[in-house]
Amino acid sequence: MRKNNAELFFDITKELLSAGADRASVIDARLIKTNSTFRDICASNACGMYGKCYTCPPDVGEIDELREKIKRYDHALVYQKVFKLEDSFDFEGMTEAKRRFYPLQSIARKAFSKIGIENALYLGAGACGACVTCAKVTGEPCRHPEIASSSLEAYGIDVAHLATAAGMKYINGENTVTYFGAVLFSF
Ligand code: SF4
Repeated sequence: MRKNNAELFFDITKELLSAGADRASVIDARLIKTNSTFRDICASNACGMYGKCYTCPPDVGEIDELREKIKRYDHALVYQKVFKLEDSFDFEGMTEAKRRFYPLQSIARKAFSKIGIENALYLGAGACGACVTCAKVTGEPCRHPEIASSSLEAYGIDVAHLATAAGMKYINGENTVTYFGAVLFSF
């Protein structure tokens, strides 16, 4: 007999927590708020990846199309991990934290595959992260389209609101950085 939704949500969040996420929960995808101003932050190129990754703006697609894509899903698994930094200017620490955060997405992919969901939308923190250097930079086609992922911000998602909707804190204390990931899915 197929498990009910509550049991499946419990199983998925348990996998993420066991793999090192600090918090994970499943929310109604209708609670996700978007705002095109978050795309404007991408365009300001503070992270240096604007136009350098297929899954970052502008290559990822028009904001309105991505917002429509979000509406196709019923549920969102939201997960977060908090990392310690030496201080608020510890950019090296932030980069290393992002590298350590990325594997949680692979755990989520396995968890969803296990319950037979193959067409979920995986969103994370920052540029794709599947390759050391995105093929966009070298002018080649995407090397791993099956695992290429965008950031929450590239889709215009208000991450602070997402955190609250998922019962999580967006900011977790002095000298820390918190990264969020989400998986949008339907049964
Ligand atoms: S999988 Fe590699 S080539 Fe494709 S978008 Fe991600 S980083 Fe770029």
